[in-house]
Amino acid sequence: MNHGLASREAPAKPQPLEKTHFTIGAVTSNFKLREGEVIPQYRKLEKKIACGAQFIINQIGFDSRKISELHLYMDQHGMHSTPLIGNVYVLNPRVAEIFHSGRIPGVVLAPPLFDLCRQQAPSPDNGKAFFYELAAKQIAIYRGLGFRGAYLGGIHNYSAIESILAIERTFAPDDWKHFAREIQFSRPGEFFCYAQDPATLLADPRENPRPRTPSRRVTAAYQISKLSHDLIFEPSTPFARFGAKLCAHSSDPLQGPAPLRALEHLSKAALYHCKDCGDCSLPEIAYLCPESQCAKNQRNGPCGGTREGRCEVDGYGDCIWLRAYERLKHDGREQTLLDHVPVIQNQALRRTSAWANNWLGRDHAAKRDHATPRDPP
Ligand code: SF4
Repeated sequence: MNHGLASREAPAKPQPLEKTHFTIGAVTSNFKLREGEVIPQYRKLEKKIACGAQFIINQIGFDSRKISELHLYMDQHGMHSTPLIGNVYVLNPRVAEIFHSGRIPGVVLAPPLFDLCRQQAPSPDNGKAFFYELAAKQIAIYRGLGFRGAYLGGIHNYSAIESILAIERTFAPDDWKHFAREIQFSRPGEFFCYAQDPATLLADPRENPRPRTPSRRVTAAYQISKLSHDLIFEPSTPFARFGAKLCAHSSDPLQGPAPLRALEHLSKAALYHCKDCGDCSLPEIAYLCPESQCAKNQRNGPCGGTREGRCEVDGYGDCIWLRAYERLKHDGREQTLLDHVPVIQNQALRRTSAWANNWLGRDHAAKRDHATPRDPP
């Protein structure tokens, strides 16, 4: 929209719509538990900035070490010029209970902090003074770490904002370091990219990223998928050229020859629970199907809703992006996760042959060699 769009009202004579001047923000969900959640979230953050995000707000969270890690990661990965806004959610006992129960996807409130919140409930102000001070301390930490602002949530009147900011103004410049040692509510076994500085308890900028957890074994289906993709679908292989010819000369080039279509249907249903979307994203997700195994059909990285690696929607198991990360890690290629050009699925291809669409350059993969993320405005 900021670049200008063609109006669809008169398709024969498209008139450019007036350009908008939105400031584009994006979120990052940095309070994740497992390595296969944390790193893909950071990779997706890089992608958002490459695609034009002009500022970033992090997810609600209460762990200074993870907050400092986000800032450090951005510094060390060429994102230091993108302003970071710290998320400060002003708690109360009821909200603390909801957050602790895990009912809000992506929001975590560790048991020690929940206990502190519960202790406030019997106080005459229902813990208001405690929670306002906690919020003011979080603002101070964000400021001390170099965040460019704070986003205050959970309050609905201006006087509450004034009260919290007034508390924050009473702090001395270095108080935030003390608060950062105090507000450390990670979970047992939580993955961090950086070691912890024993003096500050924050991410240690002097240390290299920690050795990561060993990768898990991958399935034979994954190995077979990789091999067959390289042989049959990489552009310019003899098989890909032959497939293109076969489909182009078939009676219905959208379906390709009937026996080949039947083979595609049966093999992909058996291996990937394929839903026949016609615009296949398997190669970008380490051969996991987003249509059948992701509740949100996420084709450009994980959403922020995982709980300890699992999908926020019951019945889906481990997030496909966590599994994709582990498969790539097994091959030593985890840093290539999300290297692909962002996918905009072509819904018009549903129930057509994904193989034919790939060979004949109709699917999103055809764009991968010449499309790059849009330049930041
Ligand atoms: S064609 Fe679509 S539905 Fe089938 S495996 Fe690929 S992504 Fe999944």
